[in-house]
Amino acid sequence: MRVVTRLQNLREEVCYANQSLPVLGLVVMHSGNASGYDPDSKKMVIKPSGIDYDRLTPDMLVEVDVATGQYESSLRPSVDLPHHLFLYRNLPTIRGVVHTHSNHATAFAACGQSIPVCLTAIADEFGDAIPCAPYVSNEGDSIGQSIIQYKTNAPAILLGKHGVFSWGNSPTAALKSAAMVEDVAKTIILAKQIGKVESLPPEQISLWNDRYQNRYGQRKSA
Ligand SMILES: [Zn+2]
Repeated sequence: MRVVTRLQNLREEVCYANQSLPVLGLVVMHSGNASGYDPDSKKMVIKPSGIDYDRLTPDMLVEVDVATGQYESSLRPSVDLPHHLFLYRNLPTIRGVVHTHSNHATAFAACGQSIPVCLTAIADEFGDAIPCAPYVSNEGDSIGQSIIQYKTNAPAILLGKHGVFSWGNSPTAALKSAAMVEDVAKTIILAKQIGKVESLPPEQISLWNDRYQNRYGQRKSA
């Protein structure tokens, strides 16, 4: 596929991921953003700063050279661009990143608490605990470095006193991860009002994760 076509497809997918954030209840006003990466052109596209999600169109997204961080656009990119860039530079297999301050997940972040694998849904989707990194400022590469330092095998992390970063092999996968972090966080907050939550045994986490990641849904050719 031609680079122009691939980048246009990426713009449409990233636009849809951004528009889905308020629809899924993951953001209020402009408190989140999604991006996507094309490894062949080494370009990423990201939401422009301060633009309403319902006004966003694919052509408004800002295209950024991942190696240099440079862009040509009349719109400024999200202020979270440095963190997205850091993740694409340091996690070479990922193709999408989402950042939110979604309420239930961010409640864990406010308390500095990780989300244990205490539900089969967490084993399925994440295969590991969703850690909470200590608070860092948003200057320079601090957030990116903290994510790399504290992440587990789960494609999401809580940032202390801040919010959530998630990623995946596409912008849609990163969006799903962001939505699932919020969903399981909500369930655990309810559970903690009833009793104690405990992690599943490691072998059970592996079994659920393997089934969901490798045998759930339809085959690609179906
Ligand atoms: Zn934030």
